[in-house]
Amino acid sequence: MRIVKQVGPARAAVMEARRRGSLVGFVPTMGALHAGHVSLMQAARESCGCVVVSIFVNPTQFGPGEDFQAYPRNLQTDLDICRGADVDMVFAPPVEEVYPPGAATTVHVAGLTEGLCGPHRPGHFDGVATVVTKLFNIIPADRAFFGEKDFQQLKVIERLAFDLNCGVQIVACPSVREADGLAMSSRNAYLSAAERRQAASLSAALFEARDQIAAGQRDAAALVESVRHRIENAGPCRIDYVEIVDPHTLAPVRIVAGPVRICLAVRIGRTRLIDNVGAG
Ligand code: AMP
Repeated sequence: MRIVKQVGPARAAVMEARRRGSLVGFVPTMGALHAGHVSLMQAARESCGCVVVSIFVNPTQFGPGEDFQAYPRNLQTDLDICRGADVDMVFAPPVEEVYPPGAATTVHVAGLTEGLCGPHRPGHFDGVATVVTKLFNIIPADRAFFGEKDFQQLKVIERLAFDLNCGVQIVACPSVREADGLAMSSRNAYLSAAERRQAASLSAALFEARDQIAAGQRDAAALVESVRHRIENAGPCRIDYVEIVDPHTLAPVRIVAGPVRICLAVRIGRTRLIDNVGAG
C-alpha cells in the first residue's frame, strides 16, 4: 500500500493506474476509521482495480467552537485498517498541501445546503463542497464512495459532481450500525458510557417512525413529534432538528406520499450526532 502526502505524486499515481486500465475507486475520509469507512472501501474494492482512500481532517468544514482540534486522529491505526481492507493507496496530506496560502476559491451548493444541518453549522457545507471538489481534482477517480450516514452531505456531493462535470460516479453506501442500532461515527468516541447508552434512542426512534409509516401513518408532524418524544425520554439532550424530507430535494414534506428520508441531529453532552433512515 502506497502512502502519499503530496498532491503531485498522488495525482500522478492515479493517472498511472488509469493508464494501466484500472478503474479507480476513491473513498474520502477524515480518518478515525471504523467499520462504516471499511464498508465503503469494500464496496470500492468489489468494483475497482485501484482503491484510493484519503485521510484528511478538513479544517474548513469545522465552524468556530466546533471540534476541529479535538477530532480524533490516529494515522497509524488508520493505515493498518486500510491495509486490512486491501487499499492500494492512502492520500494523507498535511493541511498546507491542500490549502496553500492565498487560496481564494470556495464551492457553494445552493438549495440542498439550506435546511437540516445547514443553519446549525454555518459554512460547513461550503467547506465540504470545496474540499471534495479539490479531492476529486487531486484523485481523478472513476467512482467515489460516500455513506448515507451523512445523507445531506451525500446529496450535496451528488449535486456538485454533476454540476461541475467532475466525471466521477458517486456511489451511495448504506449506514453501518452498532449492534444496538447507533450509526457508527468517529464522534461516538466522545460519548461517556451513559451517553453511549442514551445515544441508541436516536436510531430506535427513527426505526419506530419508519415502522409507523409502513403501518400507514402519513402525517409528518405526528411522526416528528413521536421521534422527538422518544429521544427526549431517553435522557438530557438538545435536539437540533428532526425532519421528514424529500430524499432528492431535502425539502420538508407534510404528508408522506412516497419515499422520504427521516433525518435528525441531536446533541448529547458535548457530542453532536446525526442519523437518518429511508421510509415510505
Ligand atoms: P468521515 O470520516 O466522517 O468524514 O466519513 C467519511 C465517509 O464515511 C463519508 O462518506 C461518510 O458518510 C462515511 N461514513 C461515516 N460513517 C458511516 C457509517 N456508519 N456507515 C457508512 N458510511 C459511513
